Amino acid sequence: RPRVLSGVQPSGDLHIGNFVGALGQWVEMLDDYDCFFCIVDLHALTSTRKATGSTVASRARDVAALYVACGIDPSRATIFVQSQVPEHSELMWLLTCSTPLGALQRMTQFKGKSGQTDSIEAGLLVYPVLQAADILLYDTEIVPVGDDQRQHIELTRDIAQKFNAVHGETFVLPRARVPLTGARIMGLDDPDKKMSKTDAVIHPNHSIGLLSSESVIRKRIARAVTDSGDYVEADSEALSAGVRNLVEILASFDHLSFDEALRRVAGESYGKLKETVADSIVSTTEPIRERYEALRADEAELDRILQDGAEKASEVARRTLLRAQTALGIR
Ligand code: ATP
Ligand code: MG
Repeated sequence: RPRVLSGVQPSGDLHIGNFVGALGQWVEMLDDYDCFFCIVDLHALTSTRKATGSTVASRARDVAALYVACGIDPSRATIFVQSQVPEHSELMWLLTCSTPLGALQRMTQFKGKSGQTDSIEAGLLVYPVLQAADILLYDTEIVPVGDDQRQHIELTRDIAQKFNAVHGETFVLPRARVPLTGARIMGLDDPDKKMSKTDAVIHPNHSIGLLSSESVIRKRIARAVTDSGDYVEADSEALSAGVRNLVEILASFDHLSFDEALRRVAGESYGKLKETVADSIVSTTEPIRERYEALRADEAELDRILQDGAEKASEVARRTLLRAQTALGIR
């Protein structure tokens, strides 16, 4: 079975974009792929500067419980925490040594996030190399991610290709798999910006958490930015970014194409559209929320799942790291 790897940063509350762009896709891959799902805590250190390590550790458990609550069965997938497999950091260094600085500076996400503050840590610049290590360590063929990660997966391919060309066949070249709908859910408060965990910390109306209560879901959707119109246009070209985003959310949660979802709500008032979207989110997330509560309460069981996952991951990671070290001539 082809190998799959993907991950989420424990950088805040997971939102509906993380679900339709990532976790929801992962669940559908369990039968046909050898799946590794990581909680990338080392990445979260780049964006949770004020958080202490213990906050990240506790959030890592939250994310693990959420993976399982979403249907990622730990007996059918390897679930593990990145920092528990030290090979990630080691391979990262080997790859950093041959990654062009210019390639990292060109990353859209770096340009966006670094533009927001005057002091930028090096971690924000080099984290795509750590991501490349995450992927390459597992001989990953497919990386199921949201649209924002395409560029990083391309960089990973470039890094692997270059390494193979210089040091001999060492890494498998991965490719991104991005869902047809829901690959880029936009902020409810600002439909020109991608919904993201870190933005949600500052702007409460930005997102809907995967664990939000029904009343919060309804309130947030009701407040979502639309436009000065009253009714949903039937022509998709005529939709504003805010309305388009709501239709996209509906399509993702109801497993429809964008056009099918639009046909369903065309001509409805924005009020009715929002009600339909909220109903759809509630019906999918309610059972997840219930399962999550039970799973999160049992820390011993969670730790057992994560330890088991780390052991399985280490076995693969150790072999790949050794291969890279040998190719480089340091072993
Ligand atoms: P952060 O603000 O900390 O970067 P994030 O919401 O971007 O948080 P990540 O942990 O960076 O989440 O990404 C986890 C996965 O979720 C990735 O596969 C990413 O592509 C996907 N994803 C993130 N945001 C969205 C979104 N708005 N729509 C669809 N997929 C998304
Ligand atoms: Mg992100």
